[in-house]
Amino acid sequence: METFRDGTTRKRRCLPSLSKHLKDYPRPVRTSCRHGGKGGPFFMMRYSLPCLLLVTAAVNPAAQVNLVRNGNPQAVIVVPATTQSDDLSSAIRDLQVYIQKMSGAQLPAVYELPANRPAIVLRLGAKGLSEVGYRLRTESNHLLIEGATEAGVVNGIYGLLEDHLGIHWYIPGELGEYVPRRKNITLGAIDEKREPAIPSVTGFGGYQADPPKGAEWRRRNRLAGFIPYMHYHNWEGLIPSSERQSHPEWFALIDGERKWQLCTTHPDVIRIATQRVLEYFERNPQAKTFSLSPNDYGKFCQCERCRALDRELGVDPFAPGGQFTDRLMVFFNQIAEQVAQRYPDKILCFYAYLTHTEPPLKVKPHPNLMPVICHTPWEFCHAHAITADCAPSKRYRQILLRWRELCPHVGIYDYYGHWQWFGQWPLVHTLKIDIPFYAKAGIEHLHSETHDDWWTQPLNIFAAVKLAWNPNTDTDALIRDFCKHLFAESAEPVYRYFTLYEDLMANMPLEAKNHEDWWVYPSAEAMDKGRKLLEEAFRKARSEAVKQRVRKLQLGHHIYTIQWQAATARRASNVMRAWEADVRLIQAVQELQSSGQRDIIDMWLALRESQERGAEAQAYVNLLANAGYTTTEERERALREAETRGTDFARQLGCITEWQVVGPFPCQPGELSRPDIPVEAVNPSQRFPAPQGEVTWQKVRTDHPFGVVNLREVLSAGNGVSEYAASWVKIPAEPVSLRNGSNDGAADWLDGRMVLSADVPRGLLLDEDRVSVAGVSGKWHLLLVKVIDYGGKHWNMAVRFTDRAGRPLSVPVRTEPPDENRR
Ligand SMILES: [Zn+2]
Ligand SMILES: [Zn+2]
Repeated sequence: METFRDGTTRKRRCLPSLSKHLKDYPRPVRTSCRHGGKGGPFFMMRYSLPCLLLVTAAVNPAAQVNLVRNGNPQAVIVVPATTQSDDLSSAIRDLQVYIQKMSGAQLPAVYELPANRPAIVLRLGAKGLSEVGYRLRTESNHLLIEGATEAGVVNGIYGLLEDHLGIHWYIPGELGEYVPRRKNITLGAIDEKREPAIPSVTGFGGYQADPPKGAEWRRRNRLAGFIPYMHYHNWEGLIPSSERQSHPEWFALIDGERKWQLCTTHPDVIRIATQRVLEYFERNPQAKTFSLSPNDYGKFCQCERCRALDRELGVDPFAPGGQFTDRLMVFFNQIAEQVAQRYPDKILCFYAYLTHTEPPLKVKPHPNLMPVICHTPWEFCHAHAITADCAPSKRYRQILLRWRELCPHVGIYDYYGHWQWFGQWPLVHTLKIDIPFYAKAGIEHLHSETHDDWWTQPLNIFAAVKLAWNPNTDTDALIRDFCKHLFAESAEPVYRYFTLYEDLMANMPLEAKNHEDWWVYPSAEAMDKGRKLLEEAFRKARSEAVKQRVRKLQLGHHIYTIQWQAATARRASNVMRAWEADVRLIQAVQELQSSGQRDIIDMWLALRESQERGAEAQAYVNLLANAGYTTTEERERALREAETRGTDFARQLGCITEWQVVGPFPCQPGELSRPDIPVEAVNPSQRFPAPQGEVTWQKVRTDHPFGVVNLREVLSAGNGVSEYAASWVKIPAEPVSLRNGSNDGAADWLDGRMVLSADVPRGLLLDEDRVSVAGVSGKWHLLLVKVIDYGGKHWNMAVRFTDRAGRPLSVPVRTEPPDENRR
């Protein structure tokens, strides 16, 4: 019998070799949360209350703890005799420093509780709490901060500072914090026990510009002590690709080649992978999880044995919409079964991602396997919440619930920051639904990619962390407080600024497909309105701090606007406008970097993402400007005409559009300068031996407006090969500039003499290599260009001549050797 996805059971033909893979593990039984509650299957607790306990009973109504009176300390802080973690020492220091910032009074830290003195007492080893949970309670004139562990006490300290004293750390750095001022601080009766609704929350608040500041932000926002679940792409860690030389059969056979992914049915692979996991837990006894996630490469093995398994399972992962999950479960189950014999409680995580997002159709996952579902912006929807009726959200919801029915442990990998997008990415309207949904569904781990876009997307990170602790958080109140606390007199326009984009995204049509639709969604009016709201906020700002904060938002909006301009121009196929925006973007990012404003956007990512595109765009803009198209309008017109003028346009830019091409020849890095053919003379009728048989010269003419020759198309080959392109040119006697762009590296010979060489893997960038050359008046010179392909999507080249000032130079070109060169 087999349980099908709809819950029905029916008799199936049992294949003997398959029974192993299709057996049902004991039904996962999970307690309603990690920290208590009755055990029960998932469907019983799907709609139960999240794991947040508010204990209000047994409060002594007379209790009152005077911490500060008239700016003078009244209480002491009683700290544990020994402090093991830096987090706890730092939290105790924050407790003193922030109460002092608030009131001017510094509470002394002591080890012994003095008689008759109000005190904040930190207490370890409390019962009935998780490793990160805490309890705050008043007892006569004491406030007890109790935790089972130091991390629990740390979270409790910040619970006191934030929830009861009103201090907030919205964004790393002093400008991002809010400290109310009070001469008197008195705590009334408190008795509350707090546990995060999601037991493990990690990944938030990274801060490349200043990693310790990121760690500080996480600690202050109660993310101390959460178990990091290991789920990164890790097949490289199971069997490194360096083994591919000696054991190609361990690696996936993909389109005839052994690639960077494992063959999961090879017995050695299963044995070695299991061994790696066991070794890891032996070396790291404290570790609770290990990652079995495939390498970040969507393709899997096509070998006969793997395909036979697919057939046995009756699941074709190569069919349209097919998924590899069942096949992967067979592999993972074999590892999990063996690991469980020695380590019954260790969890093996893997990404449910792209080609293996869907739960298995046939194979039951071992209960120690934990899918970490990747809520990618490119596969799912972030404009609408998980409960929405748009197709991607429906699919996400079904996938999550099905995985949850199959597996006692399920995690989510989310994208509350987007690595390509530094502008507005307003997700609070979805987080406030998604995170409570995760909590109710019993998701035990939430990891989110967030980036350092602190002053463009601050609310995603802050709100998500608050919701993961307390799914009932009122996010609108949170946004209002954020505006009121950081922007005071300018709060109102800043609130309207944030909600302008949040509302726009929330109201995107259900058929909006993906994140890129959001990039072009705001109208020019909406962008302008955002700018004006921030100008209004700046005008209203009175204090220097508020002015600085608004300025940071304005800088973020400036970057956002340029990114939006590039995206909308690209969507409208206005290439020139897109290029010009790309150039402005890289300039703006570099300006931010050099001005030291590194907390507006994720500088590291922004540079990485915009540099290549910016350089490419700059090359095209310069090229057209040097060709006499000096204004944007002229360049736009030129590009429109370029489409139809093709070769003619390329020749006007000085590009060589006709070549004799021969290849491919095998070529590895470092072999670019090695000639496979005579470079001093070319005879187009000559043939050359090559591994695939004889190769001959072929005449090629490109009609690409920038003279790009698509070598992949011409030679139907690529990856680890090279070709030679030859033309005869007449060059003037005064020096001119010979310019190459190629993917990947290229070497040029002029009459047999090497004049240029760049042995690097790269994308094509026009004019990237330049060399000054001079000819003999009236003579035909042989120009030979060798281009190597290291792999990747493209293999191409573009070559042209300009004068020394960069103005295009049309030189006479021929593809047959002139009589004087003929041998
Ligand atoms: Zn295979
Ligand atoms: Zn949607």
